[in-house]
Amino acid sequence: MKPEASVVHGLKAEPKDIPSVDRLLARVPALVEAHGHRFVADEARALLDGLRVRALATELERSELEPATLAAALEARCVQRLTPRIRRVLNLTGTVIHTNLGRSLLADAALAELPALMSAPNNLEYDLASGGRGDRDSLVEGLLCELTGAEAATVVNNNAAAVLLSIAALAGGREVIVSRGELVEIGGAFRMPDVMAAAGARLVEVGTTNRTHPRDYENAIGPQTAMLMKVHTSNYRVQGFTSAVDEATLAEIAHRHGLPLVSDLGSGSLVDLAQWGLPREPLPQEMLKAGCDVVTFSGDKLLGGPQAGLIVGKKAVIERIRKFPMKRALRMSKLPLAALEATLRLYLQPERLTKDLPTLRLLTRPLAEIERQAQRLQPAVQQALQPRYAVSVRAMQGQIGSGSLPVESLPSAGLVIAPLAAKGRGRALEALAKVLRELPVPVIGRIADDMLWLDLRCLERDEDLAAQLASLSRWTIAASNDEAPLE
Ligand SMILES: *Cc1c(COP(=O)(O)O)cnc(C)c1O
Repeated sequence: MKPEASVVHGLKAEPKDIPSVDRLLARVPALVEAHGHRFVADEARALLDGLRVRALATELERSELEPATLAAALEARCVQRLTPRIRRVLNLTGTVIHTNLGRSLLADAALAELPALMSAPNNLEYDLASGGRGDRDSLVEGLLCELTGAEAATVVNNNAAAVLLSIAALAGGREVIVSRGELVEIGGAFRMPDVMAAAGARLVEVGTTNRTHPRDYENAIGPQTAMLMKVHTSNYRVQGFTSAVDEATLAEIAHRHGLPLVSDLGSGSLVDLAQWGLPREPLPQEMLKAGCDVVTFSGDKLLGGPQAGLIVGKKAVIERIRKFPMKRALRMSKLPLAALEATLRLYLQPERLTKDLPTLRLLTRPLAEIERQAQRLQPAVQQALQPRYAVSVRAMQGQIGSGSLPVESLPSAGLVIAPLAAKGRGRALEALAKVLRELPVPVIGRIADDMLWLDLRCLERDEDLAAQLASLSRWTIAASNDEAPLE
């Protein structure tokens, strides 16, 4: 045997060196005690199988089979398996209501009520006054009517479900008239023509992309018409030579023909955002006042609550929607329903909303405060990213998000991070963005113009970012000792 070969042989482990599952388990009694034999044995088997594959490929170091090393690897594996897949992240994208990051944040007041309510029986469908069966809608219907001026209200899983249910209940097998300028697509699978088909209604398009007139609706109404529909073009704007028919005019036309008018508002804010200098979104209460029979909107967009679809309007029409069999399949569960009730209750004290409701609190954060925060955090972030990246304070433009007000942006501030090397900037940025995503609390920014942008509007506590910087420095130091990955 050649001496070098035996040296190599001495460092690499062979399959026969790998202990059995039972031997490995015997070394970790505390782990087995904590999680039970079955779970730990499955993880041990998977770990040892992986090692065996690497041993066969002569890739396994002997040192990896040290009893303490193996035990640590097994424990790490168990912890990893039991770590939730859904995790808290820091949203530094600048988009406040970010659909990919869970949309609106629930208010503390809403969250505080949930543990006690969810770990015990509650009156979800039990009428405490009569002692008989109750209706889960009644938990929020009164509040919704009070806040929007509606005669009646019902709630479902999300606004897509609200639209689907309203169309199916009111226009199944018949025609719905919609302007060509309003045939929206929201996030891929929700496209108005497809929703219409799924609800079993026939879409009758009227007008053109940029202009639709009252006579277009009038001319399209026939014996098969079941309703007129207005869709808020929440995620785009048609600008220039445009004309749309407002709700009041449309309601007059619909009612003259004995038809209901349904409005899908999308975000639908219950309070006028203009009072805080924010761009204005139409309010459900205005739509109802203008004569809409049904208005639908989301619970987790500007409302600032859990995922939900809110359907408010005239009593008789809401009753038809509520009684439609599909409602049962789309109903809200007790967890978001309790959160919705608590969120709606916050609206009873409107002056407190910008404090109590996170969505509004973030949207109304003063620009000067965000700028000061950027100045405060810049040195520590720069320190953590030495010596490869330059970190500077910048004015930036954020967004409300989730389809609300796509054109207007939110003046904001934050940090921009630029790689210092002249070459490989794209890769250096991707590497940094990836490392930020792998932090204990992942930090999500966005890459644009050869820089990584961290908008601080949604960072309410400096500590939340500061706490991640230690892990970040370790990476930067490791990366600068090992030039290859970033070059
Ligand atoms: C967001 C939106 C929807 C879908 O609402 P979800 O609550 O996400 O289901 C439907 N219509 C419009 C106009 C929207 O903006």
